[in-house]
Amino acid sequence: MTPARERKRDPHHCADCGADFDVAYYDDRRVGERAAAPPVLTDVPCPRCRKPKSISVPAGAERTLAVDVVEGEADEGGGD
Ligand SMILES: [Zn+2]
Repeated sequence: MTPARERKRDPHHCADCGADFDVAYYDDRRVGERAAAPPVLTDVPCPRCRKPKSISVPAGAERTLAVDVVEGEADEGGGD
């Protein structure tokens, strides 16, 4: 049996530019390992303003991070 890799998604909000984005990652830990390995803090750049944001992910998952912008309603005043 081959267990599927479990992709987790955590919603985050950039306090600087107000962007909403999802941080997706694979949690490769087995249940026992997950309990033994505490979460680690890693920096993820905001997809809009590039400001690093510290997030907590399972140990090892920081190597599999993917950032997806959540396109909500535009709350900025537009360009021209
Ligand atoms: Zn931002």
